[in-house]
Amino acid sequence: MRWGFIGASNIAERVIPSLRKIAGQELVAVCSRSAHRAQQFAEQQGLASAHTDLSELLALGLDAVYISSTNEQHAAQTLAALDAGCHVLCEKPLAMSLADAAAMIERAEAQGRVLGTNHHLRASALHGQVRQMIADGAIGRVHGVQVSHAVYLPPHLQGWRIDVPGAGGGVVLDILVHDADLLRFLLQAEPRRITTVTRQHGLGQGQVEDSAMSLLEFDGGVLAQTHESFVAKHAATRLHVLGTEGALYAEGSLTQDGGGRLWLRDASGEREVPAPKVDLYEIGCDAFVRACAGQGAPLASGADGERSLAVALAALSSAANGRAQQID
Ligand code: NDP
Repeated sequence: MRWGFIGASNIAERVIPSLRKIAGQELVAVCSRSAHRAQQFAEQQGLASAHTDLSELLALGLDAVYISSTNEQHAAQTLAALDAGCHVLCEKPLAMSLADAAAMIERAEAQGRVLGTNHHLRASALHGQVRQMIADGAIGRVHGVQVSHAVYLPPHLQGWRIDVPGAGGGVVLDILVHDADLLRFLLQAEPRRITTVTRQHGLGQGQVEDSAMSLLEFDGGVLAQTHESFVAKHAATRLHVLGTEGALYAEGSLTQDGGGRLWLRDASGEREVPAPKVDLYEIGCDAFVRACAGQGAPLASGADGERSLAVALAALSSAANGRAQQID
């Protein structure tokens, strides 16, 4: 497939080497709002052309685009790319509103193109293991999950994320969307209600939160607690799944590096469950490429991106009005 990149972003620099590992991918061009950044990015990444006009990029006859611009641009850029006949792998949050997300999904269907959301944590071998063990009843009936996804936002990413609410800044649209998607993936159940409290602990500016804690209520009764933060220096990420017969405990899996360690505790004691470290972005891109060839589905579809966005928007409403919020 011939690929274009919309947004000369940090994450695109990380995704490109993973995409290059997949046979048959030709990485062609980048589009940025800045001619200088586009040129610099194209040179650094070995892309043939650099653009500031999206229609110029889309006129190149590309098969697919990877959209990693700031969040408020995702919807319009996705619609334009779909109309140009491209498959779209879009970063999370898929959009800034559910109406936009629905329009993106509808357009992909109408154009017969694949729309994927880059929820990379689904690609983790460790998370795949947890999902399978839950489904197999390895810890009995799951009743609770605790997610600690509190990290320190590195200085080079402390731009729009901490001070531009209109660009989707804030820890809810940045990290809670991933946690919501991961919980849906692991539990194979839908969250119906969320109660969230947000705070500023030194990084968030204006109305932008840098910390959030939530309680999610899932179909079937599972309760999940999540903690997302931009200000937690040196913290380990943790995932704790509690069942009636045992528990699964993971450390270090809520990252971009595809690693982490997993333990099972039950009546037989505690043992580590092997889970190899993987390249999350390679696996995600590979599933997307296969889906574009008519084999299977992306790891997270447009509809999955719409669901995780619904959770994040309900979380922000809950934080604003101080009450539990139904998830639309
Ligand atoms: P960046 O801040 O690196 O990039 C976002 C946009 O900002 C770029 O597309 C670029 O737009 C512009 N930009 C980049 N560098 C500069 C700069 N030095 N000065 C001014 N503008 C700049 O953000 P991320 O790469 O962290 O995030 C991009 C998207 O990817 C977001 O939607 C985010 O939520 C998502 N993301 C997903 C991850 C995942 O693992 N799934 C991980 C990280 C981010 P332009 O070139 O058009 O000007």
